[in-house]
Amino acid sequence: RGKFLHKEAQEILYGENKFVIRSHHKQAGDLDILNHLSLDALSAMRCLMVRLNSWPCIRGHSDANLDEDCNECKICSFPVPLSDPEISTANSDFKSIIQTWTTICQRLSTGVSPGRLHLEFIADVRDLPTAKRLAEPLGSLPRLQGCIVRFGRKPNHTLSSLARSIASRLTHKTEEAATSGRTGRSAFIYILKHTNIGPWGSFLPELDAIHVMNKTFDQRYTLAGKGSIIPVRRCCHYCSFTKLHCSCPLNYAAYSPQCQCRVLPLELFLVSRQMRLDASEVFYGANVFRFRGPLYTANA
Ligand SMILES: [Zn+2]
Ligand SMILES: [Zn+2]
Ligand SMILES: [Zn+2]
Ligand SMILES: [Zn+2]
Repeated sequence: RGKFLHKEAQEILYGENKFVIRSHHKQAGDLDILNHLSLDALSAMRCLMVRLNSWPCIRGHSDANLDEDCNECKICSFPVPLSDPEISTANSDFKSIIQTWTTICQRLSTGVSPGRLHLEFIADVRDLPTAKRLAEPLGSLPRLQGCIVRFGRKPNHTLSSLARSIASRLTHKTEEAATSGRTGRSAFIYILKHTNIGPWGSFLPELDAIHVMNKTFDQRYTLAGKGSIIPVRRCCHYCSFTKLHCSCPLNYAAYSPQCQCRVLPLELFLVSRQMRLDASEVFYGANVFRFRGPLYTANA
């Protein structure tokens, strides 16, 4: 009976709370907590973030609005040079953190209940081999309820593809399109309208205008009062349950299926001539554009 109650209490403590565990450069520190949790605790857990390094702030504050020459966290003034470096398998400083992460994954593989845990993992790495090394032990985990992975400080196609493939594999998700009985070209246009090249539909269309700066689309620019536009890292705050540790693919080499940022899938235009025509029809028909730079002045 006592044991039963104990289990129930664990179920509530670990099942109802959300956990964020961070480690820092050269010290696996808090990570080790996960190795000491009971299997009952792990099996009850529903929501966990593990972050191996934090940049530009050791507290995990994001680099939103941080300019190149800014040397401290905008939120807590922590000095950027003292935050955690990118992890690299080539540097022995990171040996212990990589080892601890591997043990944790083994522990999670035994403890976690299939289909229950939402896991978020952030490790900003220096190169692809390091990302692969950190991804490998995740492979033994049971099916997850949700999964978000971030591997880099800057957008990077190879790293985010790896993040995406791990997250999809762990959640057993295959993407399907609901075309509601439409066929052929009309089904295709219907699908295109549901990608981010379609209408964005916010109540402030001005904010969602597509900016064309010096003849190129720049998704990182936003309106900043009085019609001036500035580059920013914008977080949708849907990318992570923590609302703090950002994994928006526009900002980082990351994959978050919950992210609600608008990423224009401009690759669609390159697939084929027909695809380009269809995508153009949707893209130019459904959006508001703002032009800045040479194109704007030349036509004025
Ligand atoms: Zn800390
Ligand atoms: Zn900070
Ligand atoms: Zn974000
Ligand atoms: Zn986002």
